[in-house]
Amino acid sequence: MPSYKAPIRDLQFVFHELLNADDTLGTLPGYEEMSPDLVDAILEEGAKLCETLLQPINQSGDLEGCRFTDGQVSTPQGFKEAYQTYAEGGWPSLAADPEFGGQGLPETLSFMMEEMINSSNVSFGLYPGLTRGAISALSQHASDELKSRYLPKMVEGTWAGTMCLTESQAGTDLGLIRTRAEPASEGTYRISGTKIFITGGDQDLTENIVHLVLARITGAPPGVRGISLFLVPKFLSDAQGAPGESNAVSCGSIEHKMGIKASSTCVMNFDQAEGYLVGPENKGLACMFTMMNSERLAIGIQGLGLAEVAYQNAVEYARERLQSRSATGAKAPDQPADPLLVHPDIRRMLLTTRAYNEGARAIAVWTAVNIDIAHRHPDPAAREAADDLVALITPLIKAFFSDYGYETTTLCQQVFGGHGYVREWGMEQFVRDARIAQIYEGTNGVQALDLVRRKLFIHEGRLPERFFDLLDGYIKQQQDNDSMRPFIDPLTQASNLLQGLTGWLKKRGEENPDELGAAATDYLRLFALTALAYFWAQMAGIASTKENDETGYYGTKLATARFFMGRLLPQIHGLAEGIRSGSGLLMDYEESEF
Ligand SMILES: Cc1cc2nc3c(=O)[nH]c(=O)nc-3n(C[C@H](O)[C@H](O)[C@H](O)COP(=O)(O)OP(=O)(O)OC[C@H]3O[C@@H](n4cnc5c(N)ncnc54)[C@H](O)[C@@H]3O)c2cc1C
Repeated sequence: MPSYKAPIRDLQFVFHELLNADDTLGTLPGYEEMSPDLVDAILEEGAKLCETLLQPINQSGDLEGCRFTDGQVSTPQGFKEAYQTYAEGGWPSLAADPEFGGQGLPETLSFMMEEMINSSNVSFGLYPGLTRGAISALSQHASDELKSRYLPKMVEGTWAGTMCLTESQAGTDLGLIRTRAEPASEGTYRISGTKIFITGGDQDLTENIVHLVLARITGAPPGVRGISLFLVPKFLSDAQGAPGESNAVSCGSIEHKMGIKASSTCVMNFDQAEGYLVGPENKGLACMFTMMNSERLAIGIQGLGLAEVAYQNAVEYARERLQSRSATGAKAPDQPADPLLVHPDIRRMLLTTRAYNEGARAIAVWTAVNIDIAHRHPDPAAREAADDLVALITPLIKAFFSDYGYETTTLCQQVFGGHGYVREWGMEQFVRDARIAQIYEGTNGVQALDLVRRKLFIHEGRLPERFFDLLDGYIKQQQDNDSMRPFIDPLTQASNLLQGLTGWLKKRGEENPDELGAAATDYLRLFALTALAYFWAQMAGIASTKENDETGYYGTKLATARFFMGRLLPQIHGLAEGIRSGSGLLMDYEESEF
C-alpha cells in the first residue's frame, strides 16, 4: 500500500522564504492576524488530516468505487465519515468570507491544503473542491437573497456544489447547450434538460446539493450569447432554510471510468426543476467562468499532488529494490545486487518528477498569493497587475501541471517495473487518477488555445508583458552575481527565446489563425518551462546563501535546481523548432490522407 508524508518543509520554504508571503499577505486588509506560526499550525493540522484520514481510504475507494442504486449514489466505505470529520474541522470554510461563516484566511492557505488533499485522495478532494468553486461564483454573481440562503450551508460543508455545463452534444463548445429555462412564478425558472459527466452530481456526503446549471431562457439568442446561469438545488429549502421538498432533479446513472473511481460522475436530469437566475440573463457563461477559473487551478494542482505522492513512493521503492550492479562498481557489496537508486536512468525518472514538483509548487503558491493580492490590495493598480498574472498563468497551471502530472506518475510507475503495473503497490492508480486532469475543465488543447488566442492578445498584450517584466527585472538584478551564472544564463536564454517567439507567433497568428492553433500546445509548454526556470533560479539564489545548512535541505535544493536547468529546461529548444515549423505541416495534409 502506498504511503504519503506531506511536504511541509518545502511548502514552508516556498511560503516563508521564497515568496516572503508572511509580509505580503500580512499587509493586506483583513489578513492582519496572520503570523508564521498560524500558517505552520494550519499546514501541520492539514497534513495530519490528509496523511491519517484521506490517504488510508484512497486505495480502498478506488477498488470499491461509487455505487448507483435506486437512483441514489453511494460513495465508498469511509468517505462519509471522512467528509464529516473534514467539515467539522472547519476545512471547507478556511478561506471563505466571514459574512457567510468563513474563517477569512488567505486563499494561499487553501491552495497549499489543496496540494496535500490531492496527494492523499483526488477523488475525495473533488467533492469539496467543486463546492469551493461554486461558492466563489455565487459570492460574486448571486443576489443577496440567494447568497444568504445558500452560502452559509455551503461554507459550513453541509451542502455541496456542482458545475453543470456539459451535455452530450455540448462539450468544449458550450454554445451548443440545449437545456431550457422557462420563466415561472415569483422570478423563478423551470429548468429542463440533461447534463452529462457531472462530478458529484449525486453523493451521500452532504444533506443537500446546489447545482450551478447553464441553460437557455426561452427566446434567448443562439450560441454562447444566449446562455444564463441558474442555481438549482436538489432539495428546495423550507421556510427555515432547511432542505425540504425534493426538486425535480435526478441522477440517471453514473459513469464507469478509468480513474477517480470514488468521485461520482453523473448523468443529471432536470425535469421542470425549480431554479433561480444567478447574474444577468444571457451572461451565464461569464458568471460561470468565475467557477471555471477556480476549478482550472484546482485541477492543475491535482497533477502536482499526484506527482508528489508518486515520487515519494518511487524513491522508497528505489532505495529498497535490489536489481543489478552499478555500472561503476558495486555500491552494496554485501547484498546480492545494488538498489535501483544507483542506476542513472532511475535517477533521471525520479529527479524529473522532483524538479517539476518543487518548481510547480513555487508557481502554485505564488499564483495563490497573487489571487489574494487581486482580491484585497488597497491599490487598484496592484490588484490589476496581480489579476493579470493570475489570468495568464491559469491555463499554464491547468495544462502543464496536469500534463507533467500524467507523465511523471507514469515515470514513477516505471521505477517499479512490473510491480508498478499491478494493483498492490498503488502506482497504477496514480497514473489512472492523473489522466482525467488533462481532459476535464476544458481539455489541455483548449487551455493552450486560451493562452495563445486570448491571453496573449487581450488588453493590448499587457498580460505576457507583465510576466516578461518580472523575468527581465530579476535577470537584471542578478547579472553581476557570478555565483548565479549557472542559473541566470539558462534563464536568460529561455526568456529571450520565449519573448522572441511570442512576438513572432502573434504576428503570424494575425496573418493566419491556424498558426496559433498549430503552435499552442508547444508554446504553452515552453512558457511553463521558462516560468519554472524563473522560480528555480530564485530558489537556487536563496539556497546558495545558506552556508551553514546542517539539514542538507538547501544543498539538495541547489542540486535539483542544477538538474532542472541542465536536463529539463533544454526541452525549450526542441519545442521552439516545432513551433517555428508552422501550421503548413499539419494543415496541408489532405483530409483523405488521414
Ligand atoms: C470524469 C469526468 C468528470 C467531468 N466533470 C464535469 C463536471 O463536473 N461538469 C461538467 O460540466 N463537465 C464535466 N466533465 C466534462 C468535461 O469537462 C468535458 O469532457 C471536456 O470539457 C471535453 O468535452 P468533450 O468530452 O465533449 O470533448 P469534445 O469537446 O468533443 O473534444 C474532443 C477533442 O477535440 C478537441 N477540441 C474541441 N474543440 C476544439 C477546438 N476548437 N480546437 C482544437 N481542439 C478542439 C478537444 O481538445 C478534445 O481533445 C467531466 C468529464 C469527465 C470525463
